[in-house]
Amino acid sequence: MPGYDRLLLAVDLTEESNVVSSKASELADLFSSELHIVHVLEPISLAYGGDVPMDLSSVQEQIHEQAQAHLTDLGAALGVPKDRQHLIFGRPENEIHRTAESIEADLIVVGSHGRAGLALLLGSTANGVLHGATIDVLAVHVGSAGES
Ligand code: AMP
Repeated sequence: MPGYDRLLLAVDLTEESNVVSSKASELADLFSSELHIVHVLEPISLAYGGDVPMDLSSVQEQIHEQAQAHLTDLGAALGVPKDRQHLIFGRPENEIHRTAESIEADLIVVGSHGRAGLALLLGSTANGVLHGATIDVLAVHVGSAGES
């Protein structure tokens, strides 16, 4: 049966991750695929253009620890072992692609807000991941601002 052998679930670790995670987990069960999870931590200096006049290393360390704990919880909930949980520094789109390549994933699952207008022009991670993808990408609709 055609399907997917290795699935990469990309999570921003917000509440919405639960919707995306359950879909990915269901698909992995359906196809008996190996499920991996990736979360990308954007270094504060990257997010603010490297222009912050103070030492942010302890803040960065706390963010890292929180993300690690959150990812561990999600991994436990989904039955994804440690070696399939990836916590990476960088830009989400780039690192999601890079991780997918390194684990030889054949499907990436992301959440999508279905943004329109200006928000769409500003771009989203889902668009960024879809752009230039060489494997299938599933964008799970998670609702947009103002939607119930
Ligand atoms: P966004 O367009 O940033 O609202 O995010 C949409 C989706 O992109 C999320 O549901 C995740 O699947 C993925 N995503 C966003 N940020 C990250 C991140 N830092 N690490 C991994 N995936 C992310």
